[in-house]
Amino acid sequence: MTQLKYKPSIYNNIYRKNDKNYLYHSFSGHLCIITDEYREALGRNDFSVFDEDTRKTFIRKGILVNETLDEFGSFYAHSLNSQFTADPSAVFIMISTTGGCNYHCPYYLQGKHDEERDVEDRTIRYLTEYIRSLQKTLKKVHITWFGGEPLAKDGCIEKISKAMISLCEENRIEYAASIITDGSLLFPSINKLHELHIRSVQVTFDGNEEVSCARKGCTEIQHRLAECAVIIYAKAGIDISVRFNVDESNIDSCIEEAIILCSETIRTGAASFRCYPALIGNGGKEIIPDWGLNAKLKFIHALAENGFISIVKHLLPKARFTSCGALCDANIYIDEKGNFFRCEHHVGCKEKECGNVFTGKTYSSFYNSFHDLTIPEKCRKCSLYPVCRQGCFDDRFQNGASMNCENFHTYIENIISLMDT
Ligand code: SF4
Ligand code: SF4
Repeated sequence: MTQLKYKPSIYNNIYRKNDKNYLYHSFSGHLCIITDEYREALGRNDFSVFDEDTRKTFIRKGILVNETLDEFGSFYAHSLNSQFTADPSAVFIMISTTGGCNYHCPYYLQGKHDEERDVEDRTIRYLTEYIRSLQKTLKKVHITWFGGEPLAKDGCIEKISKAMISLCEENRIEYAASIITDGSLLFPSINKLHELHIRSVQVTFDGNEEVSCARKGCTEIQHRLAECAVIIYAKAGIDISVRFNVDESNIDSCIEEAIILCSETIRTGAASFRCYPALIGNGGKEIIPDWGLNAKLKFIHALAENGFISIVKHLLPKARFTSCGALCDANIYIDEKGNFFRCEHHVGCKEKECGNVFTGKTYSSFYNSFHDLTIPEKCRKCSLYPVCRQGCFDDRFQNGASMNCENFHTYIENIISLMDT
C-alpha cells in the first residue's frame, strides 16, 4: 500500500510571543503551543521529529495535510456550494418585525422609526411553501428576529414562530431562533423565549449609561433594563451576546460597560455570555482601519487584564465558507413590509429589493451579482483566509473596502497570545 505523504497546511499560523510558539490552524481552529524543534520541523517539511501522537493529532487537526491537497481549491468549492446550492440542509431567515424603534440611533439603517407591519399571514404562507419545497434535504431552519426593535412587535414574533415550530415539527426539521434587540423590552418571561425556541439573544450597547443615553436617546431606566435583561438571560442559560457599536470616540465607555456586564455574568457562573466590539462609522472604506484595530486591541487587553479570558477566546473568529449568510441563495432577508433583500445594508433601498412574500424571489441582475466569486491571489495564499474571508462582502462590493490585512493579522495574533494568560 502506498504510504501517504504530508505537507504543512497553508492555514498554519505560528506566532512567537512570551518565549512560546503558538500554533493556530485557521480552518480547524486548533490552537496549541509547540517547541522550537517542532516549529523548525514544520518550516523545513521534516516531520521525523514528531512523536506518533503528535503526528496523528496534527493530521486530524489539519496541520499536516495530504501532499496533493489543493487546500484553497477545496475551500473554494465548498464556498461555491454554500452560495448556490438549491438543496440546502439548513436555511437562515432574517425577519424584521418592524422598522420602528423605541430609540433613535444615529446609525440606524433606514432612518425611519415609525413604520407599521401587517404582512405576518403572507410571510407565514410564503415560508411554509418555501420550507415544504426544500423538505427533501432540509434539516434545520433558523430565524433571526431583527428590526427596528423587534420586541415592539412581539405579537408578530409569536404568530410566525408558532406557525414555523409546528411546520418544522410536522416535517422533523430542527427549528431554532435568535433575536437582536436593544434589551429594554423584555419578554414577559424566560419561559416565553423557550416556548418560541429563541436560543440566543444579541443586545446592542453604545457604551456606559451616560454615552448610551446621549447617543441612542434612551432613558437611564431603559439602559438599566437592558443591563438587567443581559444578566437575567445569561443566568437563565440563554446564549447571550452583547454587541458594542464602536466608533472613534466611545471605546473607553464600551470597555467600562463590558466590564460591568462581564462581572455580573461570568463571575456568577453564567457561561453563556459573550461580548464584542463591532466597528461602525468607518464609511465602509476599510474593514479594519487603524483606529478600529486600536479600539479592538484595547478592548481585548482590558478584558484579559480583568480576568475575562473566556470572553477573549470567543473573539477568535470561526472558519466560514462564506463571509456571511447573505451570500447564500437559500437564505432570506425579509423586511417589515414583506420585501426580500440579500443583506441588511440593503433594507429600505427599492433598487435592491429581490422580490417579496407576495410574488416570490426575483433573480434580478443585482441579485445574481451578489456572490463572492473572484478571490484575489493574496487571499488564495493567505494563512488566515478561512477566518477572514475579506470581511463584509457588501462593503467590498459596494464601496471597494479593503480588509487591511496587517491589522487583521495583528488582531488575531493578539487574541492568541492572550489565551494563555
Ligand atoms: S483580505 Fe488579507 S488578511 Fe484577509 S484573507 Fe485576504 S490576504 Fe488574508
Ligand atoms: S454582506 Fe455585510 S452587511 Fe450584509 S449581511 Fe453580510 S456581513 Fe452583514
